Amino acid sequence: MPPIFDKPSFEKYDYVVIGGGSGGSGTARRAASYGKKVAIIEATTTPGGTCVNVGYKFTNVGNPTFDWKAFKPQRDAYISRLNKIYETNWAKEGIEYHHGYGRLTSPNTVEVTRADGHKYTLQAEHITVAVGGTPTIPSDDKVPGASLGTDSDGFFALEEQPKRVAVIGAGYIAVELAGIFNALGTEAHLIIRGETVLRTFDPTIQETLTPWMEKTGVHIHRGSNVTRVDGVRGQTLTVSTDKGEKIEVDQVIWAIGRHPQTRDLGLETAGVKTDEKGDIVVDEYQNTNVKNIYAIGDVQGKWLLTPVAIAAGRRLSNRLFGPEEFKNDHLNYDNISTVVFSHPPIGTVGLTEPQARKKYGDDAIKIYRTSFKSLYFSQVDEEHKEPTVYKLIVAGPEEKVVGVHLIGQGSDEALQGFGVAVKMGATKKDLDDTVAIHPTSAEELVTLR
Ligand SMILES: Cc1cc2nc3c(=O)[nH]c(=O)nc-3n(C[C@H](O)[C@H](O)[C@H](O)COP(=O)(O)OP(=O)(O)OC[C@H]3O[C@@H](n4cnc5c(N)ncnc54)[C@H](O)[C@@H]3O)c2cc1C
Repeated sequence: MPPIFDKPSFEKYDYVVIGGGSGGSGTARRAASYGKKVAIIEATTTPGGTCVNVGYKFTNVGNPTFDWKAFKPQRDAYISRLNKIYETNWAKEGIEYHHGYGRLTSPNTVEVTRADGHKYTLQAEHITVAVGGTPTIPSDDKVPGASLGTDSDGFFALEEQPKRVAVIGAGYIAVELAGIFNALGTEAHLIIRGETVLRTFDPTIQETLTPWMEKTGVHIHRGSNVTRVDGVRGQTLTVSTDKGEKIEVDQVIWAIGRHPQTRDLGLETAGVKTDEKGDIVVDEYQNTNVKNIYAIGDVQGKWLLTPVAIAAGRRLSNRLFGPEEFKNDHLNYDNISTVVFSHPPIGTVGLTEPQARKKYGDDAIKIYRTSFKSLYFSQVDEEHKEPTVYKLIVAGPEEKVVGVHLIGQGSDEALQGFGVAVKMGATKKDLDDTVAIHPTSAEELVTLR
């Protein structure tokens, strides 16, 4: 067991990080690699944050003999091993792990409250807030019975596979959870306010995934707001919508968004500004408005993704503690690739078509698009072949690629390479000049006409 510190050092720390998730760990480890005196304060006994503990998906959902009860402990054991790896890495790299709740008490001090209520204070030259976010559930005042439901954290804690489930929300977490349940044979209801899922994604993605989810068995309740939930937890729950529907299920899962964990963090005491959603306001260097206090990851509300939190954290430490060449280092948030582990998966980078039209004007935009059935499904009945749709958005006479939107088997893997190309400023001609890899689905992206 690596040492867990329960008292402060009398020396001032170079760097104190509140939150031992993806971003916090990334920035602390990079700072320690420069020989700095670093502390991480983590409130839970399960270091690694959201991604490790309540973000990892099931990977064998296609298995018809899937046994939830047998799988759950296996997953838990795997996550425990990951938690230990975090602790071991921190210990190996000389990072002090303070297990407790961190709260800013001034621009240079953080109070740690341990589970037994014991408090002590760390002094720091630099402080980074990396406390992440947490799922949003409406209050019972707003939606009576809302608290009978659970959220994505609760999903990972389910001991049994529900026979019927209602997932509320249209974002990627809602889509992924509904997809997993459906693939495992649970009667899955997805309740969405609009007409399609993934409303912030390119329309092509929305229009391809929504009907396919329905075709494969997900019951999508469009244009619906949940008005109340009735019943007893552990028994049948009835979800009522403003369309007059009453949907009977065994579990209700809210996936309507996440909010930052900024309550009771001492931000006001230290003078750190937040916006109307509670996200910490930072500039492009992750600086807050208070000198020497920074924020990275989900708590700053931009691009809520693990690799984004890690990359921003590492670059911040490069800038603060690294050599001269890194004195301006920071994460460029343009053209970040994103994947949704839907069925079929989605990969996307750059602007959506509406965003591109708004930015460049209709005349400057050209769309290349193809839809086909992957060779992978050649031996499958036509009816069951998953759709693949690829869309390339290019701008200007040089046809610079400003958006790539993929849906179809393998899109998650294919996107990473195209993400590099877009980041490097690839044009349509660059793609055309690339010799195809045959037979793959991705080759269609370099042969678009
Ligand atoms: C269901 C789900 C699926 C996801 N899937 C993906 C995916 O496929 N790909 C992807 O890139 N991203 C995914 N994400 C998003 C990803 O998990 C987050 O973007 C990422 O974890 C953010 O890292 P972070 O360091 O900002 O916060 P977190 O990882 O949430 O870490 C914050 C840490 O701070 C601790 N903490 C909070 N308050 C305090 C305090 N006051 N004192 C001490 N410690 C505190 C918390 O306990 C936690 O350990 C998913 C998220 C969810 C919920």
